[in-house]
Amino acid sequence: MTGGRCELDAVIIGSGFSGSLLARILCTRGWRVVLVDRGQHPRFAVGESTTPIADLLLAELASTYQLQDVAPLACYGKWKQHSPHITCGLKRGFSYYQHERGLPFSDDDQHSRSWLVAASSEDYWSDTHWLRSSVDQFFVGGAVAAGVSLRERTQVIAAEFCARRQRWTLQLQSDEEKSGRCEPLQCRWLIDASGGAEVVSRLVGNPRDDDCMLTRTQAVWGHFEGVSDFRPQAAAGDPFAGDHSAQHHLTGDGWCWMLRMDNGITSVGLVQPADSAGQHERRSADNAVSLRQRLADWPELSELMRQAVLVAPPGGLQSSSRLSRCRRRAAGAGWILLPQSCGFVDPLHSTGIAHSLSGVSRIAAALLTEETQSCSAMLQQYASDVPAEIYWIDQLVAACYSALPSFSAFQAACALYFLAAIGFEQTLVGHSGGSGWGAGFLQCCDMDLREIVQQAGRSLQECSSSADKLEWAGWLRQRISTRDTAGLLDPANRNRVAHTAAPKHAAFWS
Ligand SMILES: Cc1cc2nc3c(=O)[nH]c(=O)nc-3n(C[C@H](O)[C@H](O)[C@H](O)COP(=O)(O)OP(=O)(O)OC[C@H]3O[C@@H](n4cnc5c(N)ncnc54)[C@H](O)[C@@H]3O)c2cc1C
Repeated sequence: MTGGRCELDAVIIGSGFSGSLLARILCTRGWRVVLVDRGQHPRFAVGESTTPIADLLLAELASTYQLQDVAPLACYGKWKQHSPHITCGLKRGFSYYQHERGLPFSDDDQHSRSWLVAASSEDYWSDTHWLRSSVDQFFVGGAVAAGVSLRERTQVIAAEFCARRQRWTLQLQSDEEKSGRCEPLQCRWLIDASGGAEVVSRLVGNPRDDDCMLTRTQAVWGHFEGVSDFRPQAAAGDPFAGDHSAQHHLTGDGWCWMLRMDNGITSVGLVQPADSAGQHERRSADNAVSLRQRLADWPELSELMRQAVLVAPPGGLQSSSRLSRCRRRAAGAGWILLPQSCGFVDPLHSTGIAHSLSGVSRIAAALLTEETQSCSAMLQQYASDVPAEIYWIDQLVAACYSALPSFSAFQAACALYFLAAIGFEQTLVGHSGGSGWGAGFLQCCDMDLREIVQQAGRSLQECSSSADKLEWAGWLRQRISTRDTAGLLDPANRNRVAHTAAPKHAAFWS
């Protein structure tokens, strides 16, 4: 401490891309920021498939805060041109394949067992898969170059907030100091970017509020070399080659993702319903079971993995118990949570990176506003908006799992997400930063869409057979027909949707 002034403006816990980017932005505006991480870069992280929304938010952040080196990461072509040393993969859109237990994958002329939804019309402008060890290292390097003080292999072990002085006193402990010596720090803001570790909620007693969440899934994942090609070329009428997408291989009640990076690594994960009984006990034993063994009932998937070698994380496959979670508030007296520290739903629809970047955008706008009153009003809004957004994503995702194993019903449920995404993309394309997003993140406050989603969710619960689900899919197609301008469910498109995203980069790179 010097005089009555706080030593630091902010301590941010977690140096993933979201914590690092926020730290850098605050630092470039004169804030004194310490970034704390219990790990050390480069390190493995899951959560790699971006979307047009994520790219638009990244482009907007780069433009608003003049982060010249960040801007190219908002689309594949510019990324490869300007930042080839950072590893990514090409993502032209989402692809879905319905596998049958015990049989090789097969399809027909109508593509009734596959669905390709393009997000971009060409490789250059397309989205990307982020190899997070490489991407996060880039972001943390940018933060350090901007003047952020990085403390790796360090944790906050105690935190006390003085409401009168509006400041935190923190105790930091690094791995080297495990003997007991702690470093005291004082700061105005404590910001949580620790993701699922939820460090700040635990420190401040921000309770869980997720019994109501509908999505109940768990996952196991890792990075592999030697995963075989599945659809390396686009067939006639396909908007893209299936391997240049976020691949969703549906396996009855769950799905397997495959995200191919340009350096030969493929991120592979399996998402299944969470079983509550004995889950934790079984998890460590489960880790020894290879993904190929888990996929043994789906011969083509098992074949894709036949020569695959696990290369990360170093400890072997990673797994989770129930993924969905949510804390009550995303901000309080002196503390703020990045969206992923407040909650998460599931990898389906790849909402995580976009949600995290939306948090960086909103927190930076609030903290850098000149007036204290506007700052607290913006943070109050953020505190309740983020959990509401998580519950909204939960509804969009849960409907898809309820629709399984019917492929048609699954597609219809996914279309609800795509309507939300397309609506929000259009908002972002016309947006110049900072002043609210109309219907909110992912159209969370679009009351018409909410009503459709709720109605769809309720009526889906009443379906007891595949025939019921098929009928439900037909009903939903009719129900959203006037909104489905992209032709997501239009039978004439034969499950090939050519281009859904708004011309995303026009707004930033004209
Ligand atoms: C299985 C799975 C699949 C996913 N797939 C996708 C996807 O395809 N697309 C997508 O958009 N999103 C996906 N997500 C979500 C995505 O992972 C998150 O949005 C993203 O990781 C959030 O980044 P972050 O920087 O906020 O936090 P993280 O990446 O979680 O980084 C948190 C950092 O905090 C550090 N930390 C943790 N605890 C402490 C502590 N006690 N003290 C100090 N530091 C600490 C960690 O070391 C880490 O560096 C997925 C999530 C899961 C679980």
